[in-house]
Amino acid sequence: MEYVILAVVIAVVAVGAIAGLVVSGRRRQQLPPKSQAPVITAPPTPREPAVGEEAAPPTEEPRRTVEEVELPAAPEEEAEAPAEPAAPAVEVPEPTAGRLVRLRSRLSRSQNSLGKGLLSLLSREHLDEDTWEEIEETLLTADVGVAPTQELVERLRTRVKVLGTRTPDELRALLREELVELVGKDADRTVRSTKHEAGPAVVLVVGVNGVGKTTTTGKLARVLVADGRTVVLGAADTFRAAAADQLQTWGERVGARTVRGPEGGDPASIAFDAVKEGIAEGVDTVLVDTAGRLHTKTGLMDELGKVKRVVEKHGPVDEVLLVLDATTGQNGLIQARVFAEVVDITGIVLTKLDGTAKGGIVVAVQRELGVPVKLIGLGEGADDLAPFEPGAFVDALIGD
Ligand code: GDP
Repeated sequence: MEYVILAVVIAVVAVGAIAGLVVSGRRRQQLPPKSQAPVITAPPTPREPAVGEEAAPPTEEPRRTVEEVELPAAPEEEAEAPAEPAAPAVEVPEPTAGRLVRLRSRLSRSQNSLGKGLLSLLSREHLDEDTWEEIEETLLTADVGVAPTQELVERLRTRVKVLGTRTPDELRALLREELVELVGKDADRTVRSTKHEAGPAVVLVVGVNGVGKTTTTGKLARVLVADGRTVVLGAADTFRAAAADQLQTWGERVGARTVRGPEGGDPASIAFDAVKEGIAEGVDTVLVDTAGRLHTKTGLMDELGKVKRVVEKHGPVDEVLLVLDATTGQNGLIQARVFAEVVDITGIVLTKLDGTAKGGIVVAVQRELGVPVKLIGLGEGADDLAPFEPGAFVDALIGD
């Protein structure tokens, strides 16, 4: 019995000991080790970001600036380059004499439809009524205008009759003579740009936007410089935002100063200042690019009259050149009429003759205004503006 009680006591003690061990083992597994306990009191101290932490919020460290980064040494030739951009070189424009002869191929469209067309019709064996009608049609299609066409056809009829037999050379000579007569060989086509005792010659350039007015003013500055004149430009087209910049660029290329005002400023006061500058600099010619607004707006056209009146406070205006786009046909003639009512046009510049078969507009517009074509535009190049010479023009039309 004593042995039994002893065995039970031992068993109870053993079971108790084992249970105690198991419980304490479990507790030990559940508690985190002391070192991994979260620190919730102080914020983390700032530190350098580690590799792979680019997306982490920026640290408090002061950032390095671009100025602190050392640049690699520049190659020698770059290091020697001037810090300031070089001023644009002043160009020496092509001489103007014979320009039209050099640019004659630009008139090829008018040559094919007008000059060659007339020659081949006149060369027909029988010049019957139908042929004369075709001749008339050719002239009208080339924008020569009704009255000049009728006059020319009458003269050709008479002269061909007198001629009797017609060799190609005779016909060419006859047609040349009659066309030169029609274009007007005796008109004074010089652009008045010679300085007066009191001050520079003043040339106003007028016309509707888009006809090539500003470009023409720039090219005309080159024409004058090429002929030995000194020039000041007035950017009085304050209506079109880019016009003043455009003109200034043209001027800089030939060393001519451009007087300009604020965008939308008063064109008359800019024109006045340009002439004042021209007097101060003692130049030969002041070229003023005027505001080329729609001619249908009476008020705006009045503005052009004002530009002229204000400029005349310095002295007379020598030239008012009307720029017309040769490709616009009848529309160009309407513009010419309206401009002529506002200012006294003294000369016509026909632009874009390189882009049309209607070279006859030269004749029509002179008739309309009673003033000569003085210059023609034959392309977009800087020296594609040529003094108008009737002989060279007609030669270009009928070919060699
Ligand atoms: P503005 O609004 O009348 O001052 O016109 P711009 O002077 O700006 O010229 C209008 C466009 O006509 C430009 O693209 C010029 O290069 C072009 N232009 C001017 N004259 C001629 C010309 O004689 N022939 C050709 N093909 N284009 C021209």
